[in-house]
Amino acid sequence: MHAINYESPKTIAEAVKLLAAHGEKARPLSGGTDLIIQLRAGTRRPEFVVDVKQIPELHRISFSLQHGLHLGAAVSCIELHENADMRRYYPGLTEAAHLIGSLQIQSRASVGGNLCNGSPAGDATPALIALGAKARVVGPNGERIVPVETFITGPGRTVLQPGELLVEFLIDAPAKHSSDAYLRFIPRNEMDIAVVGVGGALTLDLDDDRVVDARIALGAVGPTPIFAAEASKSLIGKKFDAAAIENAARLATSVATPIDDMRGTAEYRRHIVGVLTSRVLTIAAERARHNEQR
Ligand SMILES: Cc1cc2nc3c(=O)[nH]c(=O)nc-3n(C[C@H](O)[C@H](O)[C@H](O)COP(=O)(O)OP(=O)(O)OC[C@H]3O[C@@H](n4cnc5c(N)ncnc54)[C@H](O)[C@@H]3O)c2cc1C
Repeated sequence: MHAINYESPKTIAEAVKLLAAHGEKARPLSGGTDLIIQLRAGTRRPEFVVDVKQIPELHRISFSLQHGLHLGAAVSCIELHENADMRRYYPGLTEAAHLIGSLQIQSRASVGGNLCNGSPAGDATPALIALGAKARVVGPNGERIVPVETFITGPGRTVLQPGELLVEFLIDAPAKHSSDAYLRFIPRNEMDIAVVGVGGALTLDLDDDRVVDARIALGAVGPTPIFAAEASKSLIGKKFDAAAIENAARLATSVATPIDDMRGTAEYRRHIVGVLTSRVLTIAAERARHNEQR
């Protein structure tokens, strides 16, 4: 591994100053479960690593029904999974975080790092997109808010410019009778990369079992995670029944652009998208029916 300068700032301003001063040569470090491996393999060669784990704002989980969720970019997957509000109000995102690697990996890995790594197969990203999460990014030119579905621009690439730092995710509080779910398919029981991942969030009107709002997102079936906009829209206003689920699953499958590789053919992956979309919607709906908040 090449020699690296390591900095551990305590504030966002300090971190941005360091990142901006070194531009393309600098890289933020959160849990390091992607970055350290990339440094060892030589696939990323930053000269400056800016450890963001000492910055309090990147570590907070703050939730209220009035203001929704602020989820710090460096919150570890374990902290997320152990948080009562996360488990209760965002079960899909919580289960996605709890699927990442092993418990050892989850004690280091962050949801922010999962997104900023730019992998099309990151487990947290479809769950975030399904929830309509927005990323708060701070850089030398101030702050901007980026919808998570536009954050990854290609394999390993994101909208982040040199000097910019992902600070937190902003997610609305769930409406009454709404919930989310995430499922992935892997050939083994654990410690594998998703062959397909699907996140879904639904809001139901229980008076006539109609869908008030829906969002479906796909992972590992294109160069970036995919917000399945047409599939999501197809559910809104419809009765939540087998025909609506089947139609949404078909539309979700139609936007997947998977590749053939040793872990599955494109045809197989498309089939799995349909299966997981149906299951995710069914789980999210079941949870939504029991969510009496608000
Ligand atoms: C054994 C093993 C198993 C794994 N299993 C899974 C799995 O099942 N599912 C899965 O999705 N992933 C898996 N991963 C990959 C990895 O653990 C996750 O992507 C993890 O969420 C990355 O988070 P991190 O905090 O470790 O990121 P880091 O490695 O610290 O950073 C990742 C990237 O994001 C950038 N970055 C980090 N934080 C910020 C920030 N705040 N602002 C801007 N840029 C930032 C870094 O510069 C780097 O480019 C696995 C990894 C290993 C080693």
